[in-house]
Amino acid sequence: MRIAVLKEHASGETRVAATPETVKKFIGLGAEVAVESEAGATASISESAYTEAGAAVAARDAVLKGADIVLGVQAPDAGSLAGANSGAWVAALFDPFCNRELIESYAKAGLEALSMEFMPRITRAQSMDVLSSQSNLAGYKAVISAADEYGRAFPMMMTAAGTVQAARVFVMGVGVAGLQAIATAKRLGAQVSATDVRSATKEQIASLGAKPIFVESVEGIEGEGSGGYATEMSEEYQKAQAELVSEHIAKQDIVITTALIPGRAAPRLISDAQIATMKPGSVIFDLAVAQGGNVEGSKPDETAVSHGVKIIGFSNTASHLAADASALFSRNLFNFLSAFWDKEAGKPVLDEEIGDAVRLTQGGKVVNERLTGAN
Ligand code: NAD
Repeated sequence: MRIAVLKEHASGETRVAATPETVKKFIGLGAEVAVESEAGATASISESAYTEAGAAVAARDAVLKGADIVLGVQAPDAGSLAGANSGAWVAALFDPFCNRELIESYAKAGLEALSMEFMPRITRAQSMDVLSSQSNLAGYKAVISAADEYGRAFPMMMTAAGTVQAARVFVMGVGVAGLQAIATAKRLGAQVSATDVRSATKEQIASLGAKPIFVESVEGIEGEGSGGYATEMSEEYQKAQAELVSEHIAKQDIVITTALIPGRAAPRLISDAQIATMKPGSVIFDLAVAQGGNVEGSKPDETAVSHGVKIIGFSNTASHLAADASALFSRNLFNFLSAFWDKEAGKPVLDEEIGDAVRLTQGGKVVNERLTGAN
């Protein structure tokens, strides 16, 4: 069983899919691990650290030769995987709803694409869930980046020269990233409020010491779909939410938006007219900017200024914390593959629940029901 760890080539990608820690653990399971030269450089991992962990560090061609499993952060082009064994698994992020051509090319090349985004949100898969681990770090980084752009302090400070007021932070969308954003803003001493379309988050917001801001006037809307994800809201709810947000947002200094709906463009939560009501110097961080954005006028990796309000957002937020993001991503991949390790076969054998959920291609075909619409 040979595992290949590739250097990432996507623009702005700084993470790596295996660290010396997980390399050592894979070797402990009986695998042979080869790591592409420079793979860990942007995540501050030296080649010697991989070698000491037992990996062979080599050029891409040599690393791929005879590989049974390829680990990546972002799925590479199928054409760049020549040399890997026929039927080799490639475990990475595929962005499956937006990358149909890439997925077809994996099928054509006879590779098995395993999409880490499709890891089911069930208790036993929590330690394998890269979306959670990366969102957690992204929620933290969003607050830190907004604080950096903000020309004032976050905590209240009583000084001899007078009092500095605490910043008001509003978090929109309270999934994994939103919860971490609330916790981070609280730790920095801000006054924090938050909203979501799933009423289950009310208690979670309050338990972190923040104030829940919810539409109460429109009844019978829960907002929670399968797997705990949000569903698209009715027009009536969206209108009520926009009114509530408009009122609240005008009083905020920092807004962090995190709302996503799987398989669709991110919902628009803040319009230019709403931004116009905010105080100049306020900062909005749009964590959904790469999925179309929650905020009108947000642009990936640029600071837009509308009505004196800075709007920021990164195309790849986790990549701004490359070392920790790589460590967690790598552990997620190890937890996934090791959970299914068949000692006798000397390789992982996936079960139906998780295997069918993450597998996109097999035997030359696209097989995932979420893509083929077979369910
Ligand atoms: P996400 O990234 O899909 O979306 C972020 C948040 O935005 C969600 O809370 C969503 O409800 C919210 N949102 C969507 N549209 C909105 C709108 N119009 N206005 C305001 N908010 C809106 O969410 P996520 O972080 O992936 O988490 C989704 C759920 O999955 C949560 O309940 C989380 O606890 C659960 N989860 C479970 C597991 C597991 O059991 N293995 C792992 C991770 C997350």
